[in-house]
Amino acid sequence: MIVTTLGTGSPLPDPNRAGPATLVQAGGKTLLFDAGRGVLMRLAAAMVAPGMLDALLLTHLHSDHTTDVNDVITTRWVQSFAPMPLTIVGPEGTSGWIDRTMAMLTDDIGYRLAHHEDLTWQPENLVTDARDGVVFDADGVRVIAKPTNHAPVHPTVGYRVEAEGKVVAIAGDTIPCAGLDELCAGADVYVQTVIRADIVKNIPVQRFADILDYHSSVEDAAQTAARHGVRTLVLTHPVPAPPIGQGQEWVDLAAEHFDGKIILAEDMTAIEA
Ligand SMILES: [Zn+2]
Ligand SMILES: [Zn+2]
Repeated sequence: MIVTTLGTGSPLPDPNRAGPATLVQAGGKTLLFDAGRGVLMRLAAAMVAPGMLDALLLTHLHSDHTTDVNDVITTRWVQSFAPMPLTIVGPEGTSGWIDRTMAMLTDDIGYRLAHHEDLTWQPENLVTDARDGVVFDADGVRVIAKPTNHAPVHPTVGYRVEAEGKVVAIAGDTIPCAGLDELCAGADVYVQTVIRADIVKNIPVQRFADILDYHSSVEDAAQTAARHGVRTLVLTHPVPAPPIGQGQEWVDLAAEHFDGKIILAEDMTAIEA
């Protein structure tokens, strides 16, 4: 199983970090987790066309994690030569959110249907609102959703991918909670969005301070990894993001709580589970 952190940014625009998005390739399946800013550029860098996606799985509906879902839908459709419905999984509320996204795309869909004679079908999405349980199961690749805690953003989910005898946990934005524990149990790779609480605490801007109570800190992520016998901890979506190549301080901080391998992800970091 290969995990690629396509985008490691956050809501703050960063010239070197696209929005949150993680690719998992296993057992011939290609799974995209979240679709933040610039996701199709990073997918192109990974040699993955939108038509190759077997599923798009959203952890929650915050804009930084979903802003380019419309691009995935539109580009997959425009490049298709036959109807190819996109499987989309997300927390409860995702089906309504996708309906509203499709409403936003009405004009563009109309232009293209009118212009291309051989394009006779609309983009189609097969949407599942996930709660707790198996959300994808094909060819030996199983994905399980568990509720996470990003309150007051609710509901949110994380995912556990099981394939080829390995386990990858994709947590999304969450503080430590029972659902996260279940995702991480014995995981080979655990990908967690994190903030540096020690830095954020000292930024005298209330809008920044607000993010402290609904994200895992680096210490939280490391302690979760240690508690569950994780092999490799991948820190992503760092806030405030360190310059590229200067993440060692983040790794050192995590290493105070976790003995396994620690990676501060950059865009296109690939990790083998
Ligand atoms: Zn986020
Ligand atoms: Zn969020």
